[in-house]
Amino acid sequence: MIESNYHTHTYLCHHAEGLGSDYIKKAIKLGYKEIGISDHGPLEGLSWIRMTKEQYKNIYMPDLEEAIKNYGDKIKIYKGLEIEFVREQKEYYKELLNDLDYLVLGQHFIMKNDKLHDVYHSLNTEEIVIYANTIVEAVNTGYFRILAHPDLFMYKYNKWDKTAEEVSKIIIEACIKNNVYIEINVNGARHGKILNEQNEKTWIYPRIEFLRLLQNYPDALIVLNDDCHFLDHLYDETTIEVYNLIIEMGLKLQSKLF
Ligand SMILES: [Zn+2]
Ligand SMILES: [Zn+2]
Repeated sequence: MIESNYHTHTYLCHHAEGLGSDYIKKAIKLGYKEIGISDHGPLEGLSWIRMTKEQYKNIYMPDLEEAIKNYGDKIKIYKGLEIEFVREQKEYYKELLNDLDYLVLGQHFIMKNDKLHDVYHSLNTEEIVIYANTIVEAVNTGYFRILAHPDLFMYKYNKWDKTAEEVSKIIIEACIKNNVYIEINVNGARHGKILNEQNEKTWIYPRIEFLRLLQNYPDALIVLNDDCHFLDHLYDETTIEVYNLIIEMGLKLQSKLF
């Protein structure tokens, strides 16, 4: 049974709908016990898919505070943000956590030779290693509660080879060491399925090989998140499909954020 979701976007990121309060109301209707709102947080230099600091202060946070006042007795509401790790901004994450309950690490970029590479374009072997090292450095700071879509590096890497497996192990082990939740991201599954090298069907992410790897780590804290961009995403047929597979694979899910 699904009773929580901690990865939820709003219209402020320019590619989603609604405000936090809209998803909170829907979660109450679904009988959820906990919901976390985590739109893309304001970040200098990476501004085109995220809210501004002004919107964060004047729209995002007031909406959540109002919702906590109105619905906090019906559902546990957490204030969060999904955000990239940028080494130079460590102090900023600390500052954000003065007002927020949690941060979701959503690494969609890597830095290579002082240049940004986004993971939706092809990454080579060297670059997926950089991706893993970035995640390790980020979760070691202690500022992140959840690692979103840990296998997003597979988006254009495609081939599940030795390096992909090694990189995944490094990421999983760093999360375990820091008590960071490893997310199984339903939104990846909404992109549909591909065939892997063994001719079996898998989502691009979550990759079946990554999920199998997780079976070897009984200490991993795993969470299922919808990564909702639309109200209809919260508990849709894809959510149920991914959930059923996880249960079938014997993976244990966390249903409380703390
Ligand atoms: Zn993301
Ligand atoms: Zn997201």
